[in-house]
Amino acid sequence: MTNLILLGPPGAGKGTQAKRLEDSLGIVQLSTGDMLRAEVAAGSDVGAKAKAVMEAGGLVSDDIIIDIISGRIEQDDCKNGFILDGFPRTTPQAEALDAMLAEKGLGMDHVIEMQVDDEAMVERITGRFTCAQCGAGYHDTFQRPKVDGVCDKCGGTEFTRRADDNAETVRSRLGAYHEQTAPIISYYEKQGVLKSVDGMAAIDAVTEQLNAIVG
Ligand code: AMP
Repeated sequence: MTNLILLGPPGAGKGTQAKRLEDSLGIVQLSTGDMLRAEVAAGSDVGAKAKAVMEAGGLVSDDIIIDIISGRIEQDDCKNGFILDGFPRTTPQAEALDAMLAEKGLGMDHVIEMQVDDEAMVERITGRFTCAQCGAGYHDTFQRPKVDGVCDKCGGTEFTRRADDNAETVRSRLGAYHEQTAPIISYYEKQGVLKSVDGMAAIDAVTEQLNAIVG
């Protein structure tokens, strides 16, 4: 079993790399952002509570998030391990995660910080889009499909962009990261489990750095 956390601001490449690790390690990506977007799309109570906060680039309440994730890591597909992407994002979430894992006799194997420059994140985020059919990620400048308008992976021809991937909301999301999430880096440093990679490197080079850690 391998349990990982990918830490870093929005746009650092957590989702992209988590999907690659999911394939290479045979473990599952748990993205609280994806879970919340699914709740919003389904029109659930949780979705209704989260929608406005997400559109403003703020953080959804710890209670909601902890509830979602604690149910999720109990599911069968997590038994070989999981990659946490976008969680924990506050100190109370990190503490709740530790308590949850301790209760199940589990722990984190690696907490990996993806180090990036904020300024580059705005361009990365505002240019990204996703295949509506299979979820493969692309970018207007850095990772276009081989054939324009056709997904490399599944041949799908419809793509979506996230509602919160506009320049204004990105600034708020970066602010929330520095105020509320960055403090958990020292939380994990103190636990002696923190490693870091250069998230400004090319996508394949970042994957190599990650593989060297999780190897
Ligand atoms: P992400 O897909 O990780 O960029 O998350 C998109 C949005 O969902 C964030 O800007 C937050 O509003 C919300 N969100 C996702 N994960 C969390 C979390 N762990 N705690 C609080 N809010 C979250």
